[in-house]
Amino acid sequence: MKKPVIDWDTCIGCGSCVELCPEVFELRDEKAYVTAPEKCDSCNCQEAADICPVEAITIVES
Ligand code: SF4
Repeated sequence: MKKPVIDWDTCIGCGSCVELCPEVFELRDEKAYVTAPEKCDSCNCQEAADICPVEAITIVES
């Protein structure tokens, strides 16, 4: 299964990934968290990784 991993040192809390995949990502204290990696199947987490302005999202095989 593929899942997104967030580099919190890099994330600037812009919220773009949350807007694109609200079931997968959540913003807390201006950092994005992956709350439901299994929902990646029903959204496009790769696109979320692609639009992240600071490339803080990596898609990994788990
Ligand atoms: S798109 Fe990137 S910088 Fe923006 S909240 Fe998500 S992980 Fe952070």
